[in-house]
Amino acid sequence: MDSIFTKIINKEISSDIKYEDDYCIAINDINPKSEIHILVIPKKPIINISTSKDSDKDLLGHLLLICKKLAKQFNLEKDGYQILTNIGEGGGQTVMHLHFHLLSGNAVTL
Ligand code: 5GP
Repeated sequence: MDSIFTKIINKEISSDIKYEDDYCIAINDINPKSEIHILVIPKKPIINISTSKDSDKDLLGHLLLICKKLAKQFNLEKDGYQILTNIGEGGGQTVMHLHFHLLSGNAVTL
């Protein structure tokens, strides 16, 4: 079954798109946990890092570089930012389609 993110990628559900290319889309989180909360989502429906393949290496690198690009675009470098990804229900993942959270404003402390 398609995840909510597949519906967003296919524009069946509207979202606040911050960036898009052939491989990914970046949207504002609907329920932001910090001042800036952007989700960087691959168009390929990988469930999470655990289910990614060695052949996804370039795509995974691309997603991180897009996080970096957006951080620069939103002037997050000076104050710092976080890139987080949750894996599995026990890891806090609620949408079973890989995504990186780009967060800035109030850091989640570990
Ligand atoms: P997870 O808990 O899986 O790491 O993160 C899922 C994120 O997706 C949550 O922060 C949640 O607020 C966000 N989210 C869930 N449904 C939607 C939606 O329909 N639109 C947008 N923009 N974000 C969503």
